[in-house]
Amino acid sequence: MKPYSTPWYFGEFGGVNPSISDSSTYTFLTSQKMQDMFEGNADGCYLYSRHSSPSNIYLEKAMAKLELTEASQVFASGMGAISASIMQLCEKGSHIIASRTIYGGTYALMKNVLPNFGVNTSFVDITDVEAVEQSITVQTKIIYCETVSNPLLEVADLKKLGEIAKKHGLQLIVDNTFSPLSVRPAEFGASIVIHSLTKYINGSSDCLAGVVCASEEFCASLRDVNTGCAMLFGSTLDSFRAASIYKNINTLGVRMQKHSANALYLAEKLEEAGYRAIYPGLASHPDHSLMTEMIDPLIGYSGMLTLDVLNKENAYKLMEDMQAKELGLLAVSLGYHKTLFSAPANSTSSEIPVEEQEEMGMTDGLIRFSIGLDLTIEHTTEEILKSLKNIL
Ligand code: PLP
Repeated sequence: MKPYSTPWYFGEFGGVNPSISDSSTYTFLTSQKMQDMFEGNADGCYLYSRHSSPSNIYLEKAMAKLELTEASQVFASGMGAISASIMQLCEKGSHIIASRTIYGGTYALMKNVLPNFGVNTSFVDITDVEAVEQSITVQTKIIYCETVSNPLLEVADLKKLGEIAKKHGLQLIVDNTFSPLSVRPAEFGASIVIHSLTKYINGSSDCLAGVVCASEEFCASLRDVNTGCAMLFGSTLDSFRAASIYKNINTLGVRMQKHSANALYLAEKLEEAGYRAIYPGLASHPDHSLMTEMIDPLIGYSGMLTLDVLNKENAYKLMEDMQAKELGLLAVSLGYHKTLFSAPANSTSSEIPVEEQEEMGMTDGLIRFSIGLDLTIEHTTEEILKSLKNIL
């Protein structure tokens, strides 16, 4: 593993945590310095918190270190990060190649909103790298995928996609929300790595945030006062939230280890009992060897698994039963200390039309689990198996 710890910043009075910047605007000692700032020639100064702030910079340094990129830019949500990055790279007529299994919000942005600005997307099976290459046109600017896709848990071959992107002069944008620290996509050729910090990285389901980890040049372009889509769309993270997320990153490594170990345990037991569990850590997963090549073994395969219980009625019954038994919460999102579950076909992926869901293999009996940090996963597993036996 490439060692990871949050950078060492101290508070102004020697506090073990850095001080929180509590200002929206900043003074300049001279008028000339303010002019220099607007002209992009005043490094080390702060202007206005939509542009940048000390607390956001601490989090950005931590995220760049975590994702092995030169720099990063934080946002008020994952969608803020995704939309700004795409708009920064595209113009009228641009084309995107995206995995057909991606988070429903990203899909809806590409399918329903971007075409209004002349930006069109081809959705492809990202595991078919030849199909990806064949879809490239002279207008293509971006190959977009998730390391582990939401919700089908397909794994993208980042090395091969990175090679294709490089060969054709494209940006490979990888949403790594499902597998922080487990996979670090920049190592394999991603030029831009995105996270919904709302999920594992913050880990306490108490706020929304996002980040783009990329080159210094790209992050600076997002912040540009005249042309930057972070600066001008205004999806800015508040300093207090940046400070709390920064502190939560300190426990990300141990949390990811436990999420992964618990998910692997449950997935194995479900499979042993004959249920249709999908988890990249299972040898039966079609992308198991690829994922094994990419993960950090110290962390594991992350905490997301799916279970197909054949139909919507079974799925709804099981989820309600598990919640009644306090095994987890019937809630969207992921990365919380408690297990969360939802049926994506009718919730987080409902933006995807039913015919397309069927084509990609998403049934309404599919339940997506974000496995929690239970100390007694054996008990949780036993209880889930009992509920399954009663329902199926
Ligand atoms: N990417 C993935 C994989 C997600 O699951 C989500 C939200 O669920 C997002 C991006 C969007 O993040 P946010 O809700 O922070 O805007």
